[in-house]
Formats: sequence, C-alpha cells, structure tokens
Amino acid sequence: MIDHKDRFIGSLLGTCIGDILGAPVEGYSGDEISASFGQVDRFIPSSRGYGCYTDDTQMTIALALSIIRCGEVDPEDCARSYAQLYESGRGYGWGASLILKSLKKGADYRQTGRSQFRQGSFANGGAMRIAPVGLVYRDKEDNDLRRAVYNAIMCTHVHPEGIDGAVLQASAVGLMTKIEDKHRFDPEVFLKVLFNVAQTEVFKTRIKALEEILDLSIPDRDAISILGNGVKASQSVPCALLATIRYYKRPEDAIIKAVGFGGDTDTIGAMTGAQIGALHGSGWIPAHWFDNIENNKYGRDDIINIAGRLSDITV
Ligand SMILES: [Mg+2]
Repeated sequence: MIDHKDRFIGSLLGTCIGDILGAPVEGYSGDEISASFGQVDRFIPSSRGYGCYTDDTQMTIALALSIIRCGEVDPEDCARSYAQLYESGRGYGWGASLILKSLKKGADYRQTGRSQFRQGSFANGGAMRIAPVGLVYRDKEDNDLRRAVYNAIMCTHVHPEGIDGAVLQASAVGLMTKIEDKHRFDPEVFLKVLFNVAQTEVFKTRIKALEEILDLSIPDRDAISILGNGVKASQSVPCALLATIRYYKRPEDAIIKAVGFGGDTDTIGAMTGAQIGALHGSGWIPAHWFDNIENNKYGRDDIINIAGRLSDITV
C-alpha cells in the first residue's frame, strides 16, 4: 500500500515531470510530436535548459509553501507567494506575468483576477497549480474544497470555467489519494464523481464526452479532436483526465501519452502527473527522469521536502 506522504511526493514530482517533459513541445499538435519525436519519453533540452520546469511547477510550489506557512489556503498569502517565486523565464503567459508583477508592487489580490479580462481568465492557470489544495483538502466536502480552490486562484482566475477546471483537477487529485489499491481504481466511478462536482455546462458536457470516449473506445487522436487541447481549462483539464483514466495502470506511460496529445503539453502533462502521482506515489518514477529534474533552490530535493511538510497538514 502506498503511504500518505509518498502520494504527496508523487503528486508534486508528477506535476514537475509532466511539466518538464511537455514544455519543449508546447504548441505542437499530436501529429507534429509523433513526426518529430515519436513519443516524448525523455527530457528534451530547451532554451530554458535541461530538466527545467515552467510556471506550472513554480506556482504549484508557491501554493504548497503558502499552505504550509498558513496551515490552510489564505488568498492573500497565496498571491504573495506566487509573486515572490515568479521568474519571467519560466514561460508564464503574458496575462499572468502582468498580474504577478503588479502583485509584487502591492496590487490588491482581490482585484487582479479581473485586471486582464473583465470576466476573468478561462485558461488553465488555476488548474495547473492546484494539486496541493486537492491533496490537503481531500477529505473536505465539495463546497469547502471549492472555496479553498477559489481562494488559492482568485488573484489570477475568477472566470467560472477557470474555477471549475481547477476544482475538477483538485478533486481528481484528492480522489486519487483515497484509492487504497491502485489496481481497483474505477475510471467510470471517478468520472461520475467528477460530473457531480462540475458546475459549468461545458465541464459537464466534457465529462460526458469522456465517458463516451471510454465506452466506445474512441482512439486518442479522435478523442482529442472532440475535447480540444488548448490553454482553455475546459480543453486541457479533460485531456489530462483522459490520459489518467486510459493509462493509469502504467504511470510513466500516462504522462508520456498526456504530453503526446499535443497543444498545451506542459500543463496537460503536469496535471496528469499530479493525478497519477497521487494514485501511485513516487516509486515508479524512472531514474532517467528523477535524476535529471533541476535540483537547485526549489528543485527536486526541495519539492520532495515541501511535499513531505504538506502531508503533515490537517485542515
Ligand atoms: Mg508552463
């Protein structure tokens, strides 16, 4: 049986690995990835360096540190934490960069989520970083989890779809921590629970589509053209779920497949990695991935330490 702490470690390292693996092919289609690389199963050197993660992991770490500091999700501290860790070379979108820079200068975290778009962003920036909330709030009622997710992302994401995507990703991660025997994970039950958690029409529709994709054994390539694989939360979160429900038995493969879907590959990889790690812990991670994760400040060893401290928190 996988211990509680190792699931936290697996989920945060899974986030990091999916992010690193997907980053160099971000924006490629699935076909372009196959043509150029076959499948992306090793880290590819990029302009950022070798084994370097992007904004997905950096914000996940910032959120985990804030939860450790406060013992819960505190929206003001989360915002401060994201701004503190922000580094422009980590591949942040322009909107997120502007918000994080303004937070650094003292902008009000309750206002910044609408500073770029009046309705807020419907992209996946909330979902990509939400694993720590899913892990810590795994036993909470849906409404409490939803509130914690909202508090964790409100400084950047207030659009109902941006929020719903993050809530579903957090729920998926939390549910995975509770599967005692990984061989008994049931994708159908998992999707039913998530359907009931979803509050927006678009996510309810996408989860129904995932059920059909499984039922009818629709191949990945066609499934992705149904779901989409872009930066919208309503596209990339369902993609990450698809990789998990289809390939959960082989965690390494699940992340490789998630990246192979194309589109917003680092984020789809990161979100599948978070889900899969919460199910399998960290023991499955191959050495050629583990050894090559960047390991300076807030690198691999710090992530393991942070995950361990996070696993001690009870909310
Ligand atoms: Mg990224």
